[in-house]
Amino acid sequence: MGLKVYINGEYFEKDQAKVSVFDHGLLYGDGVFEGIRSYSRLVFKLKEHIDRLYESSQGIMLTIPLSKEEMIKAVVATLKLNELDNAYIRLVVTRGMGDLGLDPRKCKHASVIVITDNIKLYPEKMYKEGLSIITVPTPRNIPEALNPQIKSLNYLNNILAKIEALNSGYEEALMFTAHGYVAECTGDNIFIIKDNNLITPPAFLGILKGITRACVMDIAKKSGMTVKEEVITRHNIYTADECFLTGTAAEIIPVVGVDKRIIGDGKPGKITLSLMKEFRKVTKTDGVKY
Ligand code: PMP
Repeated sequence: MGLKVYINGEYFEKDQAKVSVFDHGLLYGDGVFEGIRSYSRLVFKLKEHIDRLYESSQGIMLTIPLSKEEMIKAVVATLKLNELDNAYIRLVVTRGMGDLGLDPRKCKHASVIVITDNIKLYPEKMYKEGLSIITVPTPRNIPEALNPQIKSLNYLNNILAKIEALNSGYEEALMFTAHGYVAECTGDNIFIIKDNNLITPPAFLGILKGITRACVMDIAKKSGMTVKEEVITRHNIYTADECFLTGTAAEIIPVVGVDKRIIGDGKPGKITLSLMKEFRKVTKTDGVKY
């Protein structure tokens, strides 16, 4: 039996899970999404992801036809049905079917989709040896135009940056704001460690307020570290003691090179490694059971 996908209250086999070509999610990227993970039948930070999904949809004036409680039930039911112990969960809400114009009023029913799948982990080598990344010319969307705090189906800004990194032979891109400050990577937030301070760019600059980011800041604070949300520059990255990325899929991944410059001593840093260890502990114990 293949994986089943939830669409508007019904379950479909993976190859039958389809939306209309008139769905504005497809035609215009008019919709929002979330990426969530479960570890050993515990959904990690489910409430935080659901809250962010509803905030994103509020940001684009899209009413989700389920209450938060109903959405949580749909996620849990889909995971149970698919008997997945460790899963990647993708929640998608689109504006729904309309006509070929932009007018969202033509879309009478939002589409709610829950996809659960086996998690594809990054190779262990990347965590042991660290990642080398590259800064790219495409700036992150300016928040006055489309705020990156809205996790919308418009990911072209990130995809263009990803293409620039791939064209240069790198897997991940570091993006700047239009004013030249460090923003985030294409699907991950960035942190540096300098003189035992943990520093990450503030959300107002125009980045996604990552849930892993918040979790890592919390772990660091509890361990007595000074945690700062501060505007940082390319120079701060190049001269950092340690650097790492955070995201639901990637968890915490050390960065050891940026633009062919070696960060720290070119190996995953001590503080990064201890945060990784603590984070893994939290994912094993925290979460909504199913
Ligand atoms: N930034 C961007 C652009 C993202 O898409 C994501 C999520 N994939 C993140 C940061 C990390 O956020 P989270 O920790 O909530 O997954």
